[in-house]
Amino acid sequence: MRSQQEILANDADQGTFDDLVIGLVGRGIQRSRTPRMHMAEGVHQGQRIIYQLLDVDQFPGGDRPLEQIIDAAEICGFAGLNITFPYKIDVIPLLDELSDNARAIGAVNTVVFKDGRRIGHNTDKVGFEEGFRQNMPGAILDHVLQIGAGGAGVAVAHAFASLGVKRLTIADSDHARAVALQGQIAQAHDGISVDVANLTEMLDLAPDGVVNATPVGMAKLPGTAYPVSLLRPEMWVADIVYFPLETELLAAARAKGCRVLPGSGMAVYQAVRAFELFTGRQPDAARMKATFEAMTS
Ligand code: NAD
Repeated sequence: MRSQQEILANDADQGTFDDLVIGLVGRGIQRSRTPRMHMAEGVHQGQRIIYQLLDVDQFPGGDRPLEQIIDAAEICGFAGLNITFPYKIDVIPLLDELSDNARAIGAVNTVVFKDGRRIGHNTDKVGFEEGFRQNMPGAILDHVLQIGAGGAGVAVAHAFASLGVKRLTIADSDHARAVALQGQIAQAHDGISVDVANLTEMLDLAPDGVVNATPVGMAKLPGTAYPVSLLRPEMWVADIVYFPLETELLAAARAKGCRVLPGSGMAVYQAVRAFELFTGRQPDAARMKATFEAMTS
């Protein structure tokens, strides 16, 4: 492993700098842990990464159209961009190509600039899937209740289909969103039965596991989307919220004796796959996870 100083000295000697510049485009992203994960992994691999926050809420002079932001990043030689709320769908018409995952999910969270082309990927799906595989081995997947069918929920539902869930029930306070996601999953995946429950019907279900894919439980939106009185010790409970990592739902589930999966799994593994796409190098997932966790402590 080369230190930052050694990288600087060596590159200066050779008259070359091979910095990779990456950005995160979104709103309200000042506390994102993604930049640190990429930059720290780059240092370990001898690849300097400069990871810029392109926080539209903080632009001097106010908002800019997404098209201008993508153009500017490409012109300035960025290797790629992560894309987050609220642009994961809006970015699609601005790209030249989509990966199979991004096309199936209908959302992009990673853009790679390569040979004059803009290629869109979705690493949220593999992020949730890999986090689940690593941390919840043996979890029963006969019937899963997913609450939340928004931007992140779409990726989570596709991940559950890939994980082999037999029956997926989707609930969202915006019922039309749940119905749209049901149709999308049923069309894209064989061997899974998908249904929709409204928030009252949801109370009569006794699923093997529940995932919260709503923002409820975030520090700025306390509470739980799933009534904690319905928790049973044999259930598993996953949350994709990661500010805080221990949401009210997870704390109640843990107290009840349920297996729990915090939002860090998805956050770490989406970055692991994005690092691979940006750099062409194989990242050390455990190291990126440790970087993420160090920020918690
Ligand atoms: P979104 O606004 O696109 O979707 C949220 C959905 O939840 C909406 O469809 C909304 O109608 C529904 N909803 C809200 N409150 C509800 C309730 N009480 N009951 C039922 N449905 C309800 O948001 P998003 O981009 O999908 O993000 C959701 C959460 O996931 C956020 O907290 C975000 O920070 C988190 N997230 C985590 C990761 C990760 O890597 N762990 C990645 C992306 C997003």
